Order: sequence, then structure tokens, then C-alpha cells
Amino acid sequence: EVILEVKGLNKIYKTAKGETTALKNINFKTHRREFVCVIGPSGCGKSTLVRILAGLESYNGGEALLDGKPITGPGRDRGMVFQGYTLFPWRTVKENVMFGLQMNNITTNEAAREADQWLDLVGLEKFANAYPHELSGGMKQRVAIARALVNQPRILLMDEPFGALDAQTRCKMQTHLLEIWRNIDITIVFITHDLDEAIFLADRILVLKAHPGEVMELIEVPVPRP
Ligand code: ADP
Ligand code: ADP
Repeated sequence: EVILEVKGLNKIYKTAKGETTALKNINFKTHRREFVCVIGPSGCGKSTLVRILAGLESYNGGEALLDGKPITGPGRDRGMVFQGYTLFPWRTVKENVMFGLQMNNITTNEAAREADQWLDLVGLEKFANAYPHELSGGMKQRVAIARALVNQPRILLMDEPFGALDAQTRCKMQTHLLEIWRNIDITIVFITHDLDEAIFLADRILVLKAHPGEVMELIEVPVPRP
């Protein structure tokens, strides 16, 4: 089952200095429950691609389809985790997760119950009433993951989520993320510049190769799981 389909996608940034082609003729498909990593050198368009998929950025031609429908903005069918801790410092862990819920007609009690369930999944149930500054880096990213999953999205988009963590914590978080991925019905698109990380996590790696001044080539590498 194909969840995500990108066809001939182009992105041009227009700035005062002129135009930058960030993506040119990108094509790929992602299947349900797949774990796809996107790697490539700095500036090759990885963030741009994921921001387009998140609906945070427009595109100039081509198609980006989620469940066959064009992506035209953000939606609760997509969860997003960034590198920086995007938690609200003045809200508790649980309130941060509840804030991610974009459902109408949901009572505060129901929202709290949903949040508890996802905090359980990331192993932070005991920290529901803590504030972000009381947590380690890895724990903060686990809260960000819970918040991204609370709407039960089809796809989890992650832009170098563990890039700011020390090596040991990053390693733990990779294992933790794989556990989550195995336990729920989620498709993950994960950006990293760390090839080891991509090989450990991915079913398939998309390599964005920039040819200076012209086309970005996308190379697909399958990664069989042991
Ligand atoms: P990566 O994530 O692979 O480092 P980006 O997607 O951030 O690459 O950037 C791709 C290209 O688009 C780069 O040349 C970058 O300078 C340019 N770019 C990214 N964001 C913007 C923006 N908001 N305005 C203008 N140019 C941008
Ligand atoms: P990270 O999530 O960044 O890898 P660690 O797991 O190294 O963080 O934990 C940082 C600190 O927080 C440690 O003292 C650890 O014992 C504590 N800690 C982390 N997760 C939990 C948890 N679920 N329950 C209790 N303590 C925890």
C-alpha cells in the first residue's frame, strides 16, 4: 500500500538575491509502515522536502500525494519532530502533549487520557507533571515524539530529531524509536546526515545527491533488516 507519492517535485526559493533551486524533479514512493531515511550533504534539500511533506512549504510543480490526495497544508495526518526541542517551557510534559491534539469536541479529560497513553508509550508516564527544563535531552525528544503521535498520524516526519543529542543518548533513542515504530501503525520519513543512523533505522534510504548548479538526483538504497 503506497502512502506517500512524490512525482516530479520542484522547489525554487525566490529571495532578494535571486533564485535557489532546492529540489528538482524528485520522485519516490513510500509504503505503509515503512521506515525511510533521507540522507545527503548539507544544502541538498532534505529539510525542504520534509517541510513540503509537512505542508509547511509550498512547491513549484510536481506532485506530493498523501493517500492519493495532494498535500496543500499541514494536517493531523502528519506528525512532525524537529531537531530543536520545540516544547513550551511553561507547560508541563502532559500539557505539551495535549497541546498537539487537534480534535474538535474533545473534553479536557479525554485529552488528558490520550496524552497519558502516549506518554506511556514513550516511557515518560512518571514525568507527566514535570516541566521541560527538568528533563534530559533524550526525554524532551520523547515528549516531542508523543506530541507528534497523539493525533495518530499516517506519517511521522522527523528532521534530524537526534542531531543535538550525545552519542550514547542518540543510540538509546534510535532503539526506542524502532520499538515505537514496530508497535504502532506508522510510516516514518526521517532526515539525518549520519549514515550509520540511516543504516540502523531504515528499510530504505533515499540519497539526495546534489549536482552543483543542476539536477538533484535521488538514489534509493534498500536496507534489509536482520
Ligand atoms: P538541507 O536540509 O539538505 O541542508 P535545505 O532544504 O535546508 O537543505 O536547503 C536546500 C537549499 O535551499 C539550500 O541551497 C538552501 O540555502 C536553500 N533554502 C532553504 N530554505 C530557504 C529559504 N527559506 N529561503 C531561501 N533559500 C532557502
Ligand atoms: P535520555 O532519555 O536523554 O537518554 P537518560 O535515559 O540517560 O536520558 O536519563 C536521564 C536521566 O533521567 C537519568 O537519571 C535517568 O535515570 C532518568 N530517566 C530517564 N527516563 C526515565 C524514566 N522513564 N523513569 C525514571 N527516570 C528516568
